Amino acid sequence: MIVRLDPLLGPGKEEAGARAIVLLGPPGAGKSEQGRRLAMRHGIPVISTGDLLRDHVRRGTNLGVQADTFMKAGKLVPDSLMNPILEERLSQPDCAHGFILDGYPRTLAQAESLDMVLKKKGLRQYVILLDVPSERLLKLLTGRRVCPLCNRSYNIYFQPPKKEGQCDADGARLIQRSDDKEEVIRRRLETYEKETQPAINYYVEHGRLIRIDGAQTPEKVAAEIELKLGPQ
Ligand SMILES: [Zn+2]
Repeated sequence: MIVRLDPLLGPGKEEAGARAIVLLGPPGAGKSEQGRRLAMRHGIPVISTGDLLRDHVRRGTNLGVQADTFMKAGKLVPDSLMNPILEERLSQPDCAHGFILDGYPRTLAQAESLDMVLKKKGLRQYVILLDVPSERLLKLLTGRRVCPLCNRSYNIYFQPPKKEGQCDADGARLIQRSDDKEEVIRRRLETYEKETQPAINYYVEHGRLIRIDGAQTPEKVAAEIELKLGPQ
């Protein structure tokens, strides 16, 4: 069944066919992979709010300087800073035919303000949740090992090297990055649950959430997303 969501705006503004595709999902669910695929297929940019913030910080913009203090403290950048940064980015010419949002909204308040921003722009919004059970996520994230020499990455559960603990390409001893340690991962997943679940509930309540089984292969996930998006 193809689910078409209610456009946020009434008819009339739809002809342009531009759409905003919002990718939601816990860390490790494959959002950036699917974002890349969507961008290729539809010729629209992926907007990662993380990259956007880092760009502002690097350029030393007024908003970037303010955002940096929150990021350094490991806090969520407040909407009063995030919204203007996002609006500015979305008004650039490459977004005219639509865009993909990766990593935003993260909270209920952000979901609500995104609705307002997109309504102003007259874009149809498709909210896609890549759903992955937390046990699998833990294995995906904590099982990751990387080669310090060639940067190739493995997963001890799903994609192990031929020889335990050694890189297939060069035999180097594989390492676990410190931010892949179980304690750090659990905290990240808990933060996601606490912050983002209310946003997901909001989309569910409005009948606008497209839920995709994110435990399938990336190809299958991509095919299902296309099916749900329907023709342009
Ligand atoms: Zn290697």
